[in-house]
Amino acid sequence: MVPVLTAALGHGVVAGFTGRAGGTSAGGYAGLDLGQHVGDDPLAVAGNRRRVAAWAGGPVVFARQVHGTRCAVLPGAGDPSPDPFLGDLGEDDGGYDALVVTAPGHPIGVLVADCVPVLLADPVAGVAAVAHAGRPGLLAGVLESVVRAMTEAGAQAERVRAVLGPSAGPCCYEVPSAMRDDAAARIPATSASTTWGTPSLDLRAGCRQILRTLGVGDVTSVGGCTVEDDRFYSFRRSPVTGRFAGVVMMVG
Ligand SMILES: [Zn+2]
Repeated sequence: MVPVLTAALGHGVVAGFTGRAGGTSAGGYAGLDLGQHVGDDPLAVAGNRRRVAAWAGGPVVFARQVHGTRCAVLPGAGDPSPDPFLGDLGEDDGGYDALVVTAPGHPIGVLVADCVPVLLADPVAGVAAVAHAGRPGLLAGVLESVVRAMTEAGAQAERVRAVLGPSAGPCCYEVPSAMRDDAAARIPATSASTTWGTPSLDLRAGCRQILRTLGVGDVTSVGGCTVEDDRFYSFRRSPVTGRFAGVVMMVG
């Protein structure tokens, strides 16, 4: 049952998105909740993370995400190394919203419940990455940050493939009109309307616009709107909720 959706990022790259199926969390978190700081039982989340590790071939490193733009490059000398089942990278130093990995055998993940989980890889360079692109991080430049870190690690933007995972769609992601206007001033493609005709944001369209501007060679999407698809966690649908993940790893 792990993952719900797989993603094709090229030869030697394993990538996919988890859902709610296959986990042991209960209540509003029911299912495969992977978020260690959302109010769920930490041991249940640790058990769920072990199930994902069994699929990924090793413990998945997640970061404490803060809707910012900082990017950590792994593996690195002197990395803080929390227990990946019970803790997140960057818990003690301000958090990260993107991770880059430059060696095979190190799964990395991004946790979401409506924000856009972005997985990226340049299989030729052997560089993979994840990014957490909610409204604040996208507008602040988290995708610029992660692509810059990938190229500094040897990737070439035109070789990079990116996949955008399930997230709140423009159909449902209603925002005040001033918020839509602010986002559109920076990233015009984000401007959208809900199915009932009110202002909304299309974060995936915004991600595509930024990634194309950065020269990323291939950008695709998998999955639909998390608010409407109860295979996934959605904060908009239920404020007490877990987190699903996008996971990527280079193999051998
Ligand atoms: Zn929707």
